[in-house]
Amino acid sequence: MKKIEHIGIAVKNLETSNELFTKLFGKAPYKTEVVESEGVSTSFFLTGENKIELLEATNPDSPIAKFIEKRGEGIHHIAFDVEDIVVEMKRLEKEGFVLLNKEPKCGADNKLVCFLHPKSTNGVLIELCQEIR
Ligand code: ZN
Repeated sequence: MKKIEHIGIAVKNLETSNELFTKLFGKAPYKTEVVESEGVSTSFFLTGENKIELLEATNPDSPIAKFIEKRGEGIHHIAFDVEDIVVEMKRLEKEGFVLLNKEPKCGADNKLVCFLHPKSTNGVLIELCQEIR
């Protein structure tokens, strides 16, 4: 596992949150993207070397809608950059972590992703991501 790739923040309204974070960082998101398979609308900000992802639910069954219902807006996940996602998924599964998807799937921002169940990681949702080359 390499550096933190980004931090994901669940928001109720992407448009107003984009305005807020644009003010905070002094620059606009470098991309917005809908990931229909995940039920999310996302935007990405780059601040220095750090990336922040905002996520809004696109439907009431979206994991983001459920998260906000239970815990309100806030930090949703931490994503780590990995060299080879399949190798890393196998390693972590062997270590007893619970993978939320058995195969890498296509996430936002040109990445293959896999999530680890927070019950196996002290309540923190961890995303592995590998750049699609
Ligand atoms: Zn993410």
